[in-house]
Amino acid sequence: MRYGILSDTHSNLEALEAVLGAVAKEKVEQLLVAGDLVGYGADPCECLKRLQGAGPVAVCGNHDCAAVGKMDLDWFNPRARLAVEWTMEALGPSDRTYLSGLSFVWKNEEVTLVHGSLHEPDQFHYIFDPASSRASFDLQETPVAFFGHTHVPGLFALGESSVSFQRPATVQLERGRRYLVNAGSVGQPRDGDPRAGFCLYDSESRLLEFHRVSYDVQAAQKKIRQAGLPEFLADRLALGY
Ligand code: ZN
Repeated sequence: MRYGILSDTHSNLEALEAVLGAVAKEKVEQLLVAGDLVGYGADPCECLKRLQGAGPVAVCGNHDCAAVGKMDLDWFNPRARLAVEWTMEALGPSDRTYLSGLSFVWKNEEVTLVHGSLHEPDQFHYIFDPASSRASFDLQETPVAFFGHTHVPGLFALGESSVSFQRPATVQLERGRRYLVNAGSVGQPRDGDPRAGFCLYDSESRLLEFHRVSYDVQAAQKKIRQAGLPEFLADRLALGY
């Protein structure tokens, strides 16, 4: 199966369109969406429409949960909280129904999908280094698990006694090993590269690819400012942080 993996779209329509355009050229059979479809950006409803139209399997992120009132807003920093409150107002009934129906974890026999860590997935623990990946690896039953949440793409590989972190462009996964893959962020990358990120994975060849694609950052920024969302949320898109 050839998978396309998207995470953390965060209501950024310009970035999402660029990524879906790139994915469309790649003969992807199953699209996976690792949560945070909404929050931060100015196009939550249109992004949900485009994502649903692509027929994905999607799991729930902390912003998705909060936007439908299933999470305490105290969890969020002040700017994120403002964005959540703005998104709650912007969503329509069908958007709320869709987001409310998302599960925290999805898996088949080949891959697992989660927003944060598989350990207490409804608590959205961050996996940002080998130490914080351990609890998730302990619960991972498939060779590969895809996640997001930190907005930093990369690959954690479980070895005999240690976990290594890599940030390759392309990697051949080894049979019999387990991997935790952060697909990066479509709509708000935080690794210093402002281009939208996504992954491709072929479970037959076991080839994993990290992709980046340029999009109209200024158009997304303009909409965030016009919506009255915090200025910082527009500024950071140009920095990739
Ligand atoms: Zn996020």
